[in-house]
Amino acid sequence: MSHSIQIAVVGSGYVGLVAAMCFAEMGHQVICVDNDERKVAALQGGDTLIHEHHLPELLERYRNTRVRFTTDLAEATNECSAIFIAVGTPQSDSGDADLSYVEAVASEIARHITSYKVIVEKSTVPVYTNEWIRRVIERNGVNREMFDVVSNPEFLREGTAVADFLHPDRIVVGADSERAAALLSAIYAPLTEGDYYKNEGAIAGCCSTSAPPPLLQTSTKSAEIIKHASNAFLALKISFINAVSNLCEAADANVEQVARGIGLDSRIGPKFLRPGIGYGGSCFPKDVAAFRSVAEQMGVDFSLLSEVEKINVGQKKRFLSKVRSALWTLRGKKLAVLGLAFKGDTDDIRESPAIDLVEMLLAEGCSVVAYDPAAMKRAEAELPASAQMRYASNIDEAAADADALLILTDWPEFAQLDLRKLNATLRYPIVIDGRNLYDPNVMFDHGFTYMSVGRPTIT
Ligand code: NAD
Repeated sequence: MSHSIQIAVVGSGYVGLVAAMCFAEMGHQVICVDNDERKVAALQGGDTLIHEHHLPELLERYRNTRVRFTTDLAEATNECSAIFIAVGTPQSDSGDADLSYVEAVASEIARHITSYKVIVEKSTVPVYTNEWIRRVIERNGVNREMFDVVSNPEFLREGTAVADFLHPDRIVVGADSERAAALLSAIYAPLTEGDYYKNEGAIAGCCSTSAPPPLLQTSTKSAEIIKHASNAFLALKISFINAVSNLCEAADANVEQVARGIGLDSRIGPKFLRPGIGYGGSCFPKDVAAFRSVAEQMGVDFSLLSEVEKINVGQKKRFLSKVRSALWTLRGKKLAVLGLAFKGDTDDIRESPAIDLVEMLLAEGCSVVAYDPAAMKRAEAELPASAQMRYASNIDEAAADADALLILTDWPEFAQLDLRKLNATLRYPIVIDGRNLYDPNVMFDHGFTYMSVGRPTIT
């Protein structure tokens, strides 16, 4: 039987805010801390600030009941037994994870510890971070018996973050103390014991089954490595299928057929075998780099990861070559771009391959009219509107009189274009699809010159 626990979550971004809302949904009391005053004020006022399914309704339900927002970490440390650190761990110039935000939070927590606390690494961090956190807290005068550091990596995907958090494939708890492990087990009990899924209003998962997730208890270091290894493996799978797609193009084969043939092998599985313009987002690029860097520092040759990165960079250049081969010269061409987010269903543009490609096209002298259902506001901060870079308020406006249409993000609505209308709207019926959203035969039948990734172009 689960009971309500006082939890602090430090950092109210994609991970922290989702974790806070989901802990509340699981019945816990949560204090959500961020040092960005404007963010805290917006959250207090009911604005989630990020595009994620279910977040607005959860915020509305819990913001004045089970969840409180504050900038005051001292108060949160005082009141809560578990403190989740969910601040950013961006890539530094050397490729390492920049852990300065984690360190800042750890030393501030240390200044306010007066009773036993479990400090939980929710941010993605390299192996040994738990020992550094422990050292920082001890250096601030806190006795070793007063706290434990636990690793509880997060595997949610942006776009389906709430459903993923509440229906995880597994919950990993890396703890070197039974007392800390027991607290984490109690926090996740509504999920692992299945009580949450019996609620009538429970949020559904992305897959049809709602079997309680297993909680895997490991050493702290193993848990830290599990997160980096998981993301590195997923990135590797994407780069692998992208390399296969290049081979398919050279051999005039069809990567969709090949991916299906590979994925039906239960040892491989069908997921993450979709070719495209390369992986992006706030996690894969930085986590692959950080994992490679950790291996290097420990004298382990993991150059496989450098190849993963090399293929990923190459994939964007290949797409640019495709645009060039469809249009001959690029200077002065007007291109409609569908999609700026790093993937569909999110407004996140961090390390988005779509943004990289738009930058490359602008550098080639093209003009771009872009449309994205959720990411345009964030994109505009990176790519300011100008005569060369314009933002459209819908797909038709983007396509009007364009020399070609490029699909760069796999938003569901981009897979449902009115092809007859599109043909009439574009100046030339050319579509270059970086996400393989259409059947080449259908596009040919609608009169398009259609190029995609790893599939024969029908002429
Ligand atoms: P984010 O940038 O969206 O959010 C981080 C938040 O931390 C920001 O709101 C920032 O203001 C706040 N912050 C920074 N320093 C602080 C401090 N000293 N005190 C209080 N708040 C502070 O980042 P994110 O995408 O939520 O990622 C957080 C961590 O989770 C990263 O390590 C990331 O790798 C990991 N992660 C992210 C995802 C994802 O899909 N975004 C998935 C799994 C894991």
